[in-house]
Amino acid sequence: MTFDDLSLAPAILRAVQEQGYDSPTPIQAQAIPVVLEGHDLLAGAQTGTGKTAAFTLPMLQRLSSGQPATSRFGGRGVRALVLTPTRELAAQVEESVRSYGKHLDIKSTVIFGGVGMNPQIERIKRGVDILVATPGRLLDLQQQGFLDLSTVEILVLDEADRMLDMGFIHDVKKVLALVPKDKQSLLFSATFSDEIRELAGSLLKNPKSIQV
Ligand code: AMP
Repeated sequence: MTFDDLSLAPAILRAVQEQGYDSPTPIQAQAIPVVLEGHDLLAGAQTGTGKTAAFTLPMLQRLSSGQPATSRFGGRGVRALVLTPTRELAAQVEESVRSYGKHLDIKSTVIFGGVGMNPQIERIKRGVDILVATPGRLLDLQQQGFLDLSTVEILVLDEADRMLDMGFIHDVKKVLALVPKDKQSLLFSATFSDEIRELAGSLLKNPKSIQV
């Protein structure tokens, strides 16, 4: 299996080539077709398996084939929201989105706690297609009226088990209440407790399951 077998757009394949990747990892080979088809996904994958590209590449492709959204603030509205447990992971994921999407007209940004809000608010105001965020800061910005999540088409929960271990379940549930019901949802987790299964059950619609 090569990346050419995965029906990815030339602009995305070029970025993947420039990363120096020869072939997709098992999670990528399985997840990319499922996400491109628009299914919800429940994926069991540890970090280091290439899970970031497994959701980022098809997410970029789906967004690049649609129209930009308009937020109620006038700029480009958030079409994909990726939630991560830590700021380090958020920054890393957004970096990946940037490199895989560098030949596309897609704008991404990252927001997390522990740093000033104003630069994040400015970036959101300038328009964002893909937002990578930790749950606490995301809710802060939303509650203060700086963020419109009503245009989200794709939601990713990355490292969902760590998100719950860190006590973010209530924040995650609050975020889920702010995004449209009709969307594509992808949940990645290294482990599957009852709590994760319950979260997956309430979020995912007829999901495909993948375990690597
Ligand atoms: P992740 O599990 O998403 O954190 O990715 C782990 C590492 O694998 C990152 O440094 C990626 O750049 C790298 N990686 C992801 N996909 C591939 C691939 N298909 N071939 C080689 N390296 C990859």
